[in-house]
Amino acid sequence: MQEFLSDAIKPYLNRINAIRTAMTLIEWDNETGAPKGAAEYTANVQGVLAAEYQRAVLEPDFVKLIRQLKADENGTEAQRATGRLLDKEISKLEKIPIEEYENYNRILAQAAGVWQKAKKENDYAAFAPYLELIIEYCKKFAALQAKEGQKLYDVMLEEFEEGFTMEVLDSFFAELKEKIVPLLKKVQAAPQIDADFLHRKYDREKQKEFCLWLAEYLDFDSDRGLILESEHPFTTNLHNHDVRMTTHYYEDAPDSAVFSLIHETGHALYEQDIDDELTQTPVGGGSSMGMHESQSRFYENILGRSEAFWEPVYKKLTETFPQQLGDVTLRQFIRAINRAEPGLIRTEADELTYCLHIMVRYEIEKMIFEENVSVKELPEIWADKYEEYLGIRPENDAEGILQDIHWANGSFGYFPSYALGTAISAQIYHQMKKDLPVDALLREGKLDQIHAYMKERLHHFGAVKKTGDILEEFCGEGFNPGYYTEYLEEKFAGLYGV
Ligand code: ZN
Repeated sequence: MQEFLSDAIKPYLNRINAIRTAMTLIEWDNETGAPKGAAEYTANVQGVLAAEYQRAVLEPDFVKLIRQLKADENGTEAQRATGRLLDKEISKLEKIPIEEYENYNRILAQAAGVWQKAKKENDYAAFAPYLELIIEYCKKFAALQAKEGQKLYDVMLEEFEEGFTMEVLDSFFAELKEKIVPLLKKVQAAPQIDADFLHRKYDREKQKEFCLWLAEYLDFDSDRGLILESEHPFTTNLHNHDVRMTTHYYEDAPDSAVFSLIHETGHALYEQDIDDELTQTPVGGGSSMGMHESQSRFYENILGRSEAFWEPVYKKLTETFPQQLGDVTLRQFIRAINRAEPGLIRTEADELTYCLHIMVRYEIEKMIFEENVSVKELPEIWADKYEEYLGIRPENDAEGILQDIHWANGSFGYFPSYALGTAISAQIYHQMKKDLPVDALLREGKLDQIHAYMKERLHHFGAVKKTGDILEEFCGEGFNPGYYTEYLEEKFAGLYGV
């Protein structure tokens, strides 16, 4: 591993990597096991580690080496990608004063706990001062990074997905809105699908047993990975030999655990598949947030909600829950897990309405960064937008603006990646069907073959290739959301007969 990097660079990278590993482990622990009362104290450690990370990245000799690496036209693809990514990180961090970066990271660490409590107690006022501070820092840092004439929110977006500016995203979301909103109206006017049986009582331990089995069925390598529980399911990794994910178990909603698990397994497979040569280097992770989300959404929705996928699996589920599902046919089950129903919670949203949730967040983030809307006004704006796009209004902030952790993490500009990834997943599927008998493989339970294809065409590159280049090579064209709207129209026309 790391063979492609010079001996001069390695010690610096190893130090950076060690600090990042410590930070990732603390975050993982905070989400999955640390006692609640510890957060405030651990936050100090997190602030210090963030500052240490910044110092390590900005070591003058290291900066020199990286800029040489970036400029070397004879370098390999992996070397140049490493130079490009690290130069981006250096350029960002060198503009931020070290004390401010430490403070900001300490506030983020505190905000995570404050947000969690505020959500539980439906107390937006408790979280608002933190949100205000975080926004203030993000704006300040974005202004320091901005190239001449570049808008602040475009700086934020650039961090997660290169090339997807407000201009590109505005037209992407406009296309989604134009296709999805009328389709949703038609679906709502059609006879609704019965899903009451999904709200019977499903033992948590049995759900867990099924989910652990399902992860292995999907080809997750448990020797190099771990599955625990957390309020919000997520995936993180130290490197491709240590990939960790979580799900959650609700007694009256087994589909929540199952589809969260399938989603996170999509993320996890991507990370586990990255070439060993890239392990513990800056290019040893996924190509971008959007590309990552394309994998999780592909597994969760395109494979995981298909009839072909469940044909060999449903028997196992009914054996696990004979009382709850004994009287439910496979067809009834498939219809239920694909039903479209506007709801208030993004992570529980169906395929048809999901991107509308993202659109709400995107528009609000734009208002925060470009129109300076105040933190106080946000809950009302949130509720209005839900009413406008989804036809429902949250009755409290816990099921409204407080539902996602992203803003407490300072991750403004991240949400659009979910919609982009979802659209990319349909584009990839379109290509995959030309190369593989996808349905037949699913019916035969040969998930390993689908996985091997994904590894070969996409996963193993890590971040050596840019998302746009991977798509171009994989599908023969750049990002094209047309496949996604087509996929939705075909699927929901069939389900609801509209
Ligand atoms: Zn995800």
